[in-house]
Amino acid sequence: MNFMLSEEHDMIRKMVRDFARKEVAPTAAIRDEEERFDEDIFRKMAELGLTGIPWPEKYGGIGSDYLAYCIAVEELSRVCASTGVTLSAHTSLAGWPIYAFGTEEQKMRYLKPMALGEKIGAYGLTESGSGSDAGGMKTTARRDGEHFILNGSKIFITNGGIADLYIVFAAAEEGVTAFIIEKECEGFSIGKKERKMGIRSSPTTEIIFDHCRVPAENVLGEIGSGFKIAMKTLDGGRNGIAAQAVGIAQGALDAALQYAQERKQFGKPIIANQGISFKLADMATAIEASRLLTYQAAWLETEGEPYGKASAMSKLLAGDTAMMVTTEAVQIFGGYGYTKDYPVERYMRDAKITQIYEGTQEIQRLVISRMLTK
Ligand SMILES: Cc1cc2nc3c(=O)[nH]c(=O)nc-3n(C[C@H](O)[C@H](O)[C@H](O)COP(=O)(O)OP(=O)(O)OC[C@H]3O[C@@H](n4cnc5c(N)ncnc54)[C@H](O)[C@@H]3O)c2cc1C
Repeated sequence: MNFMLSEEHDMIRKMVRDFARKEVAPTAAIRDEEERFDEDIFRKMAELGLTGIPWPEKYGGIGSDYLAYCIAVEELSRVCASTGVTLSAHTSLAGWPIYAFGTEEQKMRYLKPMALGEKIGAYGLTESGSGSDAGGMKTTARRDGEHFILNGSKIFITNGGIADLYIVFAAAEEGVTAFIIEKECEGFSIGKKERKMGIRSSPTTEIIFDHCRVPAENVLGEIGSGFKIAMKTLDGGRNGIAAQAVGIAQGALDAALQYAQERKQFGKPIIANQGISFKLADMATAIEASRLLTYQAAWLETEGEPYGKASAMSKLLAGDTAMMVTTEAVQIFGGYGYTKDYPVERYMRDAKITQIYEGTQEIQRLVISRMLTK
């Protein structure tokens, strides 16, 4: 067993950390305030190859692996969780199903420009009436010659409105079917944009299908196998969210550790109190455990081993860790932690979503407990 990162992983971490510090961190607070996505940052990520980390070079990627991708999401989220999830949804939720289930033609036509960062991807499964119970979807797909006609809507779609391509699931006669929808598709439109507690510079919107005409060649995988594709996609997606949660927690710990050494009360730095130093010890320990589980799940996926249970566990632990660590970070900052003068309140707001999306914590427990009894 070797816990050392390879030279390649180390290099990617250093590169993304440097990029995040110089290009992402300076505007993170203002983009959060203004609920503004910055396309320029995405384009710069593309120039560095970050938009196609795990995909082979022939599909526009850099031919690395899922661990490198998780490290990138972690380092971005350490300064800006919105930028982290933009990359996570683009790669795991939109890119992965095309890579895993797409035809060669679909990979060249859709995955390649996504990996090169020329197009942004999104994933549409959730509906107003079906969240945790995704099988209860009402969006329909009716065959019409060489097309399918989609009707219905999806809500809470990360990268909604900024994406060029949407992986969408709809109920066809043969069962739930996955489609690749181009934003220009007739009958497709963007609906309500959510105003959110956190990850505010990552746009979240409704997407609407009003007699949306999708060519049959845009079916992803087998007709009727969409539910399996949706669930498999979430298995990997969850580990991207675990990486996001680890990054958020690490960012909050970095800030709290520095503050605890600078802030003096009763004539000494507050870190001199065990009440504070023990908090920091617990925070660091929980982050390390979450990171190890996340990297292990990414390694399993890269090795072609089953990773569904590991990624549900990493998301569960890392999401709860991010919430605990960011809440404690605000506590360490005292009253200042509750203001927008310091970043920890943003980290705390951002952390909450990691307990909700890509399956709530309750659903992760359901997934894990089912696998335990299998
Ligand atoms: C910012 C944001 C971004 C998102 N991005 C995307 C995206 O890109 N694509 C996409 O398709 N979706 C996305 N989602 C949707 C997200 O995945 C869902 O919100 C989530 O799965 C929960 O569904 P729900 O909101 O309908 O809650 P519900 O399913 O209604 O759950 C409500 C509560 O009941 C609990 N619960 C439900 N069923 C059970 C059960 N069987 N046992 C125990 N507890 C249960 C839940 O854990 C939760 O606490 C996003 C959501 C948000 C807020």
